[in-house]
Amino acid sequence: MTMRHNLTLHTMLERARRYFPHKEIVSRTGSGILRYTYADYYDRTRKLAAALTKLGVRRGDRVGTIAWNHHRHLEAYFAVPCMGASLHTINLRLPPDHLAYVINHAGDRVLLVDPDLVPLVEAVKEQLETVEHYIIMADGPLPETKLSPVYSYEELLSAAPDDYRFPEDIDEWAEAGMCFSSATTGLPKGVTYAHRAIYLHSMMVCMADTVGIGEKDVVMPVVPMFHVNAWGMPFAATWMGSKQVLPGPRPDPHTLCKLMQDEKVTLAAGVPTVWMGVLQAMEQERYDLSSITRVACGGSAAPRALIEAYEQKLGVPFLHAYGMTEAAPVTHVSRLKSTLEDAPADERYAKKSKQGLLAPGLDMLVLKEDGTEVAWDGREMGEVVLRGPWIADSYYNDERSRATFREGWYYTGDVATVDPDGYMQIVDRMKDLVKSGGEWISSVDLENAIMAHPKVAEAAVVAVYHPKWQERPLACVVPKQGAELTAEEIKEFLKGRVADWWIPDEVIFISEVPKTSVGKFNKKVLREKYWNHLAP
Ligand code: ADP
Repeated sequence: MTMRHNLTLHTMLERARRYFPHKEIVSRTGSGILRYTYADYYDRTRKLAAALTKLGVRRGDRVGTIAWNHHRHLEAYFAVPCMGASLHTINLRLPPDHLAYVINHAGDRVLLVDPDLVPLVEAVKEQLETVEHYIIMADGPLPETKLSPVYSYEELLSAAPDDYRFPEDIDEWAEAGMCFSSATTGLPKGVTYAHRAIYLHSMMVCMADTVGIGEKDVVMPVVPMFHVNAWGMPFAATWMGSKQVLPGPRPDPHTLCKLMQDEKVTLAAGVPTVWMGVLQAMEQERYDLSSITRVACGGSAAPRALIEAYEQKLGVPFLHAYGMTEAAPVTHVSRLKSTLEDAPADERYAKKSKQGLLAPGLDMLVLKEDGTEVAWDGREMGEVVLRGPWIADSYYNDERSRATFREGWYYTGDVATVDPDGYMQIVDRMKDLVKSGGEWISSVDLENAIMAHPKVAEAAVVAVYHPKWQERPLACVVPKQGAELTAEEIKEFLKGRVADWWIPDEVIFISEVPKTSVGKFNKKVLREKYWNHLAP
């Protein structure tokens, strides 16, 4: 038999220290670009653990962060779990009542806060029930604040002893982290991650057939470190000793392009809206992105037009991935199988715009309403259900668990097809499907078809009430800057691209698609606003 050895994060940190002490971590902070090595990183991470211990943080406690992507946040990523506590990364775009809810629900004892985000915490300070210490992660002097007791991160580190040792007896089932899914309806739902879940997820994203993170990579998570652990990249990249580039507070597309160019980034990851912004920036100014071997894109469907623009216009390979908070998050990646590499471009792009193949290590069923599995014919639709070693088994102290986690499976609420090659395609979220005359219309397919129009910047399709068909799709379109566009042009463009009966009766023009706190289209807002748009 084999050793019973715990799968914990400590081993990742130790490997980075031993093998890659000179590799770089580059961090865009409030006041400039900071560079240091994994050796520095390790020392500071250990000091942070020592400082938190001195403040009374014990095993099993939760420490919250309200922070952008930078080196101090990365220090907390390992210091907290490796000392046996749990890192709760808080979405800084939550509305105040949700912010207070997640901090109280998690029972955070300490909050690590970026200086520019202090006002967010001050606004809910009176509602916080469990926080005992506030630590501000500033480069220089602390801002004036009503938070108390408050400490400077840098002063705590300077005062911390050098001899702290991480415990070696952490159980792999101990909680390493916690995130909340930013549910578009109701309160956020908490998901906790065991060390072993993050460990196994990290191994998976390092596999060549998924994201393939390795030592030679220069990894830049644009996806926030508060959005499902920046998709697990900080863990995997540290483990492999990859150079990391952290883009700091509010990076705009030009800042991202410049960082990718100057730091020779090989892998950058973010939601489609990020890549749409970068594409527009590249149309205004040319940056050298030749170091990039793939941009990873997930969180919502990557439109085919976007993938084609990256690969054909910019020469940047595009990797479409799928997942969710409940899955730590990656469950699918769309890579071309060797047998498809020589297929005609049309077929290759059709595959790449699907969410792809299930990651090694997971099980999936796609279930029709009657509970039987769909045929893998690319047509039958059903709900994606998952299980595996990095899939949650419940929401943290939340009654909503019962509806979502059943008989050992996680019901995603996403509707998909699977084609004969095994590529899964998300048709829609169950709640976003348009039910027209008893048939389903995929809002996602329609959006993608509209976004392929050269004059369209963004498009969202929502169901609106219709007296005869119950629901019809309404297209809400944002034209590209300076473009003149009519509803007729859009409808004409859709002919032949989607079934005739899918074509929206009405197209309206808006200045921006409302976004959720993690940058996805917030279709709930549009649905509520326009629900009666077609009513007599
Ligand atoms: P939130 O619920 O806060 O938006 P998540 O990131 O957990 O946060 O959202 C997960 C959901 O996002 C999935 O269930 C799915 O509906 C959607 N999603 C994620 N990646 C993709 C993708 N590549 N294509 C389509 N939908 C996606």
